[in-house]
Amino acid sequence: RPISPNGDAQDGIRVLCRIRPMNDDELAMGADEAIEVSGNTVALTVTSYTADETGTLRRSRDLRRDGRTYPFKFHHVFRPTATQHDVYALAGEPLIDDVLEGINGAIIAYGQTGSGKTHTMFGPDGDDPRAAYESLDEYHKGIVPRLMADLFRRVDLASDSYSFDVTASYIEIYMEALCDLLHPDTDGKPWEGAASRPKLEIRQTSENAIWIKGVTQVEVRSAADVFALLRDGNRNRHVAATKMNRTSSRSHAVFVLTVHKSEAVSGEHTMAQLYLVDLAGSEKVSKAKTDGMRLQEAKRINFSLHTLGRVIDALTTHARSKRSSRSTRSSRHIPYRDSQLTRLLSNCFGGNARTSLIVNVSPSDWNSVESLSTLMFGARSS
Ligand code: ADP
Ligand code: MG
Repeated sequence: RPISPNGDAQDGIRVLCRIRPMNDDELAMGADEAIEVSGNTVALTVTSYTADETGTLRRSRDLRRDGRTYPFKFHHVFRPTATQHDVYALAGEPLIDDVLEGINGAIIAYGQTGSGKTHTMFGPDGDDPRAAYESLDEYHKGIVPRLMADLFRRVDLASDSYSFDVTASYIEIYMEALCDLLHPDTDGKPWEGAASRPKLEIRQTSENAIWIKGVTQVEVRSAADVFALLRDGNRNRHVAATKMNRTSSRSHAVFVLTVHKSEAVSGEHTMAQLYLVDLAGSEKVSKAKTDGMRLQEAKRINFSLHTLGRVIDALTTHARSKRSSRSTRSSRHIPYRDSQLTRLLSNCFGGNARTSLIVNVSPSDWNSVESLSTLMFGARSS
């Protein structure tokens, strides 16, 4: 029986799997397909490879796993031939109505480095400071450029009876510290908080709204405004990573849109947040002597990802126990508070929220060991 994600849209989170096409390297070197798709199920056959000192991949034998085929079921599977539009239509567009109606949501891309997270969220080279989201052709645009165009079209159509105000923030989480990508510190240590800048802290109001104390919030009136902020933030992200001698694939990039809706007559006011998240690569961080990283650091880098997995576990187990008539357990501890990422996203899971988690995998046998761990993350089972 395939391992499947739990819950349905009512439980707040839909898990979609996207398999990217083989890339040029994989094609040139004759990598084999490791994944077969059938409906909403993927079957992954594992072959273990390890890189030697020169970086060359060599077969390594893992008798427990090699040659075994693991089935996983998702709410939807995008084959390598799926278009950016297909992905947007299922993972992005449905969130627009909700956020305009005051319902929080998130779109989260998970997967190893090179699996297509940024491509899916933004488009090719979508985290490059020069990314021209507006002039990308329709075929290549990722979720965010499409979503912004549609969202602001709807905002501009607002009638006389209500109006929208939209603000944006862009932050990075690296080793459990938050950095304001729209206002980085300039002393070269963006994550330690210069004296002149308030340290970013995640706070919860009594109404359970989440906000980041000290973060820059910029009013945005159009998709073009958002794209300009993304480019500014990506430039700062790139500079910071270079200064710290690391790659940005080790940090989480979180773009937050806050939508305020005001009704003219009743004066009623609603607020909702949409989190657009390009996660750090899920691959194991090597305790590499190569970059002199200490083991403690290696562990902390993926701490938020690990906690995200525990949160999804707890939520889906909870959803199951609610559905099961025999179970009387009505509440369960969800470890939101354990990491910065899950604290920030805590309003995007569960009842009154709409979240798409997209797990991205490579199609090839070279990456099958990482793909196994990615698919297991997305398809948490009983
Ligand atoms: P990640 O952000 O997970 O590290 P990227 O999104 O940068 O991965 O993808 C790695 C490379 O593969 C990029 O050159 C990207 O454009 C390409 N790629 C990823 N997914 C697809 C896809 N579905 N179709 C075509 N190219 C893709
Ligand atoms: Mg990326």
